[in-house]
Amino acid sequence: MTAKIIDGKALSLKLRVAFRARVSKLIDQGIRPGLAVILLGDNAASRVYVRNKINACDDCGLKSFPHLLSPDTTQDQLLELIEGLNEDEEVHGILVQLPLPPHIDMRKILEAIAVDKDVDGFHLYNVGSLVVGNSIFPPCTPYGVQLLLDTTGIDVAGKNVVVVGASNIVGKPMALMLLQKEATVTVCHAKTRDLAQHTILADILIVAAGVPGLITGQLVKRDAIVIDVGINKLPDGSIVGDVDFASVKERASWLTPVPGGVGPMTVTMLIENTLRSAERRLGIGRGIGSEGWDAASL
Ligand code: NAP
Repeated sequence: MTAKIIDGKALSLKLRVAFRARVSKLIDQGIRPGLAVILLGDNAASRVYVRNKINACDDCGLKSFPHLLSPDTTQDQLLELIEGLNEDEEVHGILVQLPLPPHIDMRKILEAIAVDKDVDGFHLYNVGSLVVGNSIFPPCTPYGVQLLLDTTGIDVAGKNVVVVGASNIVGKPMALMLLQKEATVTVCHAKTRDLAQHTILADILIVAAGVPGLITGQLVKRDAIVIDVGINKLPDGSIVGDVDFASVKERASWLTPVPGGVGPMTVTMLIENTLRSAERRLGIGRGIGSEGWDAASL
């Protein structure tokens, strides 16, 4: 059997249609949702990500506030900018593009963002909320994966889920979200001995390691759902994931492509989080400390 493709681009376009309607409603009530995007330095990949985020704002009718800063911006200058954005009524979400240059203490910067504007979900408050199953801003990439899984119609409760990759922005929050949905979750990382021993048991395999071709068909249980988060640029300029698409598609029941799978969803979920933040100002939707996030409510 050949895997069915989970089309992140199509889902993302569908969600954006709904977002535009929500933005119109907010504008009717006097609020234009706004996202501030801060980029320090000239990392080529970061520039592309920031451009995509600004384009997504334009596409959905949000106002964007780009702050493209020189690489020698000091930590104090950056903190001052964030303080101002925290107070700015027009800004509903603040995003600092990672990675930051080495002279900046990333944790200090992320903790400076107002909790109710932390649309990336990286502030410790939001990380802690995720641990107790009560997040108001689920981190965008795992949030997008959750929605992609929902489209398969398969309930994750009780399923063996293996997450390959344990980063703070993808692997760990992904594992926490799926644990919250009552999956049995295993997290693998670079020091995991015999990766195949774990992956072969996965009903759902989520791969975010940054290693092209790490997962081949032999490592995948027959009929598993496989989500490829990886984005890797090869020397010839092509973009591939962490999953060997050709061999895995012959084993899996569902599979995300790269590009066109998780990538478009990440940016779209950033818009979702920003919209939620703006709606919260009007008392619509979840507040801080309210019940947990619910993909079905989108
Ligand atoms: P990261 O911070 O470098 O973390 C990689 C994780 O994978 C680490 O936990 C590492 O283990 C683990 N790992 C590395 N090699 C491994 C191996 N051979 N076997 C098992 N685990 C291994 O990367 P990240 O930020 O999470 O990103 C991961 C990938 O997803 C990258 O390709 C990135 O470009 C992509 N990404 C895509 C999106 C999207 O929107 N689609 C968003 C974010 C990231 P240790 O902890 O032991 O080092």
